[in-house]
Amino acid sequence: MTEVSVAKEDVAATGDLVVLKSVNKHFGALHVLQDIDLTIARGEVVVVIGPSGSGKSTLCRTINRLETIDSGTITIDGKPLPEEGKALARLRADVGMVFQSFNLFAHKTVLENVTLGQIKVRKADKSKAEEKARALLDRVGVAAQADKYPAQLSGGQQQRVAIARALAMDPKVMLFDEPTSALDPEMINEVLEVMQQLARDGMTMIVVTHEMGFARSAANRVVFMADGRIVEEAVPDQFFSNPRSDRAKDFLSKIL
Ligand code: ADP
Ligand code: MG
Repeated sequence: MTEVSVAKEDVAATGDLVVLKSVNKHFGALHVLQDIDLTIARGEVVVVIGPSGSGKSTLCRTINRLETIDSGTITIDGKPLPEEGKALARLRADVGMVFQSFNLFAHKTVLENVTLGQIKVRKADKSKAEEKARALLDRVGVAAQADKYPAQLSGGQQQRVAIARALAMDPKVMLFDEPTSALDPEMINEVLEVMQQLARDGMTMIVVTHEMGFARSAANRVVFMADGRIVEEAVPDQFFSNPRSDRAKDFLSKIL
């Protein structure tokens, strides 16, 4: 508990990085995000949990503008999200996203997957981009796979490449949307370990996951969503041992 409160003071001192205010989003008649207020401090790790269909993926997708919002505001580092063009490409680089399905470029090698954005969006030169890519692939434990194509890698390796590809853009924040749910069980830990290390290194992270062990050990805060709303927020210890809302109690009784 002491460790958590110390970390919280540290992040508070350096300011808020992602701020959502009164965000609303509809898909036709479905009110998928309802008055979402959420502030993520620099260096904070927030785990988002909740039943299927509660709006977790949509929330992630609005933060890097893969989805537009109907009302409210979203700012990253104090700036509203750009609507289009190069500024939007830079925003997508600032907000790294890792999806359930690895989404690597199938016709590019692992190394090319990690250099492409650096060269196109960050305007890095090729040799610098390759040097950085190799260092990142080493950091996530797949350096030996650099010249292979995604299909030649296991799911766990592909997901670690996807993390390296996002990190290569020097993101301000990383979004993970159920990054381990498409993996065979024996590959889940190798991906969670990379994410744990990233959290320890001070990366600001928003992680949608059903991995409660990860939430307990890596999160500064758990956000529980249901039916398009944030129903409850708490430090992990408190959320898991003493959830306040009936919705959270019910959800936890089904998954724990
Ligand atoms: P979660 O990630 O929590 O499972 P989602 O954000 O994926 O929830 O979805 C929330 C709700 O919005 C679901 O009912 C889903 O069917 C609906 N939804 C998601 N994306 C779309 C879309 N592009 N068009 C219409 N409905 C959508
Ligand atoms: Mg989802």
